[in-house]
Amino acid sequence: MKAFRRFTVRVPLPDRIADLAPLSHNLRWAWHTPTQELFATIDPRLWSSTGDPVRVLADTDPTRLVELADDEGFVARVAEAHADLEQYLDAPQWFQRYAAESSGQDGSAHDRVVPPGIAYFSMEFGVSEVLPIYSGGLGILAGDHLKAASDLGLPLIGVGLLYRSGYFRQGLDHDGWQIERYPVNDPADLPLTLLTPGDGAEPVIVEVAMPGGATLSAQVWVASVGRIPLLLLDSDIDRNDDEPEGAALRAVTDRLYGGDQEHRIAQEILLGIGGVRALREYVRITGRPEPTVFHMNEGHAGFLGVERIRELVAGGLDFDTAEAVVRASNVFTTHTPVPAGIDRFPADLVARYLDADSDGKSRLLPGLAAATVAELGDEADPGVFNMAHMGFRLGQRSNGVSQLHGAVSREMFADLWPGFDAADVPIGAVTNGVHGPTWVAPAWRDFADGDEDSAPEVYAGLSDETIWRTHEELRAELVDEVRRRALASGLDRGFTHAELAWTADLFDPHVLTIGFARRAATYKRLTLMLRDPDRMRTILTDPDRPVQLVIAGKAHPADEGGKSLIQQVVRFTEEPELRDRIVFLPDYDISMARFIYAGCDVWLNNPVRPMEACGTSGMKSALNGGLNLSILDGWWDEMADGDNGWAIPSAEGITDEHRRDDLEAQALYTLLEETVIPLFYRRADDGVPSRWVEMMRHTLTRLGPQVLASRMVRDYTTDLYCPAARAYESACADSYAGARDLAVYRRTLETGWSSVLVAGVEDERREDGLWITAHVALGDLAPESVAVQVVLGRVGDDGEILAPTFTDMTPGPDRDASGRVVFTALVPPSASGHLGYTVRVLPRHPQLSSESELGFVRFPATTG
Ligand SMILES: *Cc1c(COP(=O)(O)O)cnc(C)c1O
Repeated sequence: MKAFRRFTVRVPLPDRIADLAPLSHNLRWAWHTPTQELFATIDPRLWSSTGDPVRVLADTDPTRLVELADDEGFVARVAEAHADLEQYLDAPQWFQRYAAESSGQDGSAHDRVVPPGIAYFSMEFGVSEVLPIYSGGLGILAGDHLKAASDLGLPLIGVGLLYRSGYFRQGLDHDGWQIERYPVNDPADLPLTLLTPGDGAEPVIVEVAMPGGATLSAQVWVASVGRIPLLLLDSDIDRNDDEPEGAALRAVTDRLYGGDQEHRIAQEILLGIGGVRALREYVRITGRPEPTVFHMNEGHAGFLGVERIRELVAGGLDFDTAEAVVRASNVFTTHTPVPAGIDRFPADLVARYLDADSDGKSRLLPGLAAATVAELGDEADPGVFNMAHMGFRLGQRSNGVSQLHGAVSREMFADLWPGFDAADVPIGAVTNGVHGPTWVAPAWRDFADGDEDSAPEVYAGLSDETIWRTHEELRAELVDEVRRRALASGLDRGFTHAELAWTADLFDPHVLTIGFARRAATYKRLTLMLRDPDRMRTILTDPDRPVQLVIAGKAHPADEGGKSLIQQVVRFTEEPELRDRIVFLPDYDISMARFIYAGCDVWLNNPVRPMEACGTSGMKSALNGGLNLSILDGWWDEMADGDNGWAIPSAEGITDEHRRDDLEAQALYTLLEETVIPLFYRRADDGVPSRWVEMMRHTLTRLGPQVLASRMVRDYTTDLYCPAARAYESACADSYAGARDLAVYRRTLETGWSSVLVAGVEDERREDGLWITAHVALGDLAPESVAVQVVLGRVGDDGEILAPTFTDMTPGPDRDASGRVVFTALVPPSASGHLGYTVRVLPRHPQLSSESELGFVRFPATTG
């Protein structure tokens, strides 16, 4: 019988262990081993089956809790864990020191502004497996961002959606075809608190207008991720039933990436617009400082920008000034170089949601012209609204997620800055990182007592033997986990225990273990390793130097191609001679990921370069001493150093993708056969592969610190959040004088830039260098409000200036006969060889983050 309705009864905890409640409720336990051990003590079996403190407390027999309340040792551990949590939540951290430094309190003078609050919006957050509101890399990254922000003491607030079914749980049918299950999350069973204005008060409800006069309502849950509040909007409430199409409104937050475009746009509107409204309520209720910096984690969050503009317009600003304020303080991060991965909507769908009234004003964003908002998503294709374009247009600062991805993004979005070379497109890069305390196995973390900063030095001092044995234990744990999961998966697929007896000896704890776990997106090439199945078979089953391979990953429910790749892999793993050496584990998530990263010797990644924006799984492996075997894509492109793993050569020039796959697969096999496998099995008398261990040590000490989320969040703070906070301050000062000035300036550029001309350019070589003169027509612009520059450098065969230097030109006092301003510069000869130069005019304004920001540039009519 199925339950008609479900409900939860909570037995109050005995007083002496009552602090277990806050310990279960703050997700900090997810990266605090002593707290995890505390919950494991309560009921080891419940803990290992759920990994969830809230469930452990709810499902443990009350008599057991009474018994524990009498156990002095246990009571002391609860008190200690609770004291540790309190101290963690309050103690000044890196951010507080950085802020003190910035304000000159420590005696040093800095010209920095630190934000009093930062809002971080994301469609998904992967904080813990108990809160399944993530699908993969993007969500885990957002989760790691919050955790590191908490550790560093940032005043950050996360904003997202609470999906009733989250992302799907993956199973396999008898034939190895992916099946999707959508377990329902009951918020009562999750570590969440409903946002209310006070105890016993009605929950806060956020409203967003929907087409046709309907109203979408959502309540707001708050999760505590250490010291970071994470606000999650939830539309599954009775109030929506009163609306026409109420069921659809309720269902807006039913699933992550589950519906059609209509469903998705409603989600993104709720996230961006509803999210800002929820944030305002939260700040009002808690008295926290208002965030001045807003971070859009991918284009999904782009609507937050227009909602912020709406607020300012409602407060009396004109659109342009409001836009200048919002741009100054928005940070936009793009996450994909795959065009299909960019979030785009049909323009007419967006228009329907913007819902213009007879005056052209949007009902979704009262006070704003629907057409003006629609333009923010313009792209080359006129029928499309591009969320990434809106993100770039409404974020004065933007970045890709690795150095290579920054460069690829500058190319990919160069259209937004016409006239600029890709190199000058103002998109920067902050390379992703992963949260150490979450992803470093306790066995490694314990060496340095959990102190990330001293870990490299401590690892450097460990003996080869210690490093190797530590890793071997983690590999053995992985083997146990593989067996357990393979059996469970086999049973789930309908095989019998008898048929699955072999899983008891699946894998060998002493064999070279390679991991490959990632979404089954085409560019990630799940099946590249099967390109030559015979060769792979030989590698896996070598009697003397065998290899075992653990594979995991979900395909998007609508991606039949991805599912068929998974099936191909599953079928390969079922060959009788291979099944002990290669396994596909369904339902890749955080709980599985931890075992694989910690236990594998080698982490394999073979995307089609440069489609992997960053990739983070290899970083997690590296933090546990795993060696990466990867195409030079994403983070690996900048961090591979020859001693921390191996680069699979990529055949990028080859346009025939089959041939490219063949070549890269062969390169992979050859690396395995000739380099990786021999090195792993080259043992001294004590059984330790010393050269291998040397590479592990190098990885732990040198690569480890670079791939941490704490490094990433510090980079965001110093390079983006603080400059944005400063820009916001100067935009808002003196009743928005700065923003107003910039808005007026921008309008002047928009109307007057067409009159800007570089008319005559002359040069003269003298003793002291090259004197260059340019006659520049400026229309209504003053000479101080533009930058006129000489761009000089070697010239390539095609006439392109390579690696140019830029020299500002100085305006003369007089104008020429045609009213043009005469600019001059002396450029000292910097190089020999074939040189060339040109002159360019750019906007210049103190409120701009860069001269290319607004996309205006003018060159001489013909460059010779
Ligand atoms: C780290 C992680 C990912 C992302 O890995 P990529 O290398 O970026 O593909 C996806 N899923 C889980 C469960 C992870 O832990």
